[in-house]
Amino acid sequence: MNDKTYFGGILDAVKSLTIGLKTSIKVFFEHHETEQYPENRATLTFTDRNRFCLEMPHNEKNEHKCIACGLCQMACPNDSITVTSETVTTEDGKKKKQLVKYEYNIGQCMFCNLCVTACPQGAILFNQEFEQAVFDKSKLIKVLNHPGSKCQERPKPVVSPKPAATPATANEAPKASLSHVDTAPAPKTETADKTEPIETKKED
Ligand code: SF4
Ligand code: SF4
Repeated sequence: MNDKTYFGGILDAVKSLTIGLKTSIKVFFEHHETEQYPENRATLTFTDRNRFCLEMPHNEKNEHKCIACGLCQMACPNDSITVTSETVTTEDGKKKKQLVKYEYNIGQCMFCNLCVTACPQGAILFNQEFEQAVFDKSKLIKVLNHPGSKCQERPKPVVSPKPAATPATANEAPKASLSHVDTAPAPKTETADKTEPIETKKED
């Protein structure tokens, strides 16, 4: 049975309301940690370790670094990457793989970074574009190579001519080393024998 009076109940309610209001007013004037998104979109910053979306950087000539080796595709545990390539013949008659389409499904990606680590060319990386929400699921599959782009030409390695070995130098070196090997160490006794006692001159 409730033994509180009518006015006692009202008093309790007012007391409870006052405590609640006191807490609300206190929190209202405290420093807030909450980010005011999307108002602060322009000033939002993230650490470099954030991984939001895979990207294939292109230079000003619309060139990327991908050689279509497929290592990133093989490294991906979630089948988020599909590399389509073709084989072309270069000017010097060599066969070479060329990237046709690089598809990345961000909807399947778990941002493990294994693809980036596997790439021998440094052709892909994670960027800081965090707004990836779409209404159409098919838009989660992104083509990372730009239309009309091609693989960056790598500078051919410069082969420095071998220094011509002079016959004298070539012959001398082994001899020197052989003579060093063949030379038997002088017996200790011989060294000892050669040591002559120092004679002291007698003064007349
Ligand atoms: S981050 Fe991981 S899951 Fe995402 S594409 Fe790369 S390897 Fe696949
Ligand atoms: S992104 Fe890198 S690992 Fe993937 S196909 Fe291109 S070169 Fe190979």
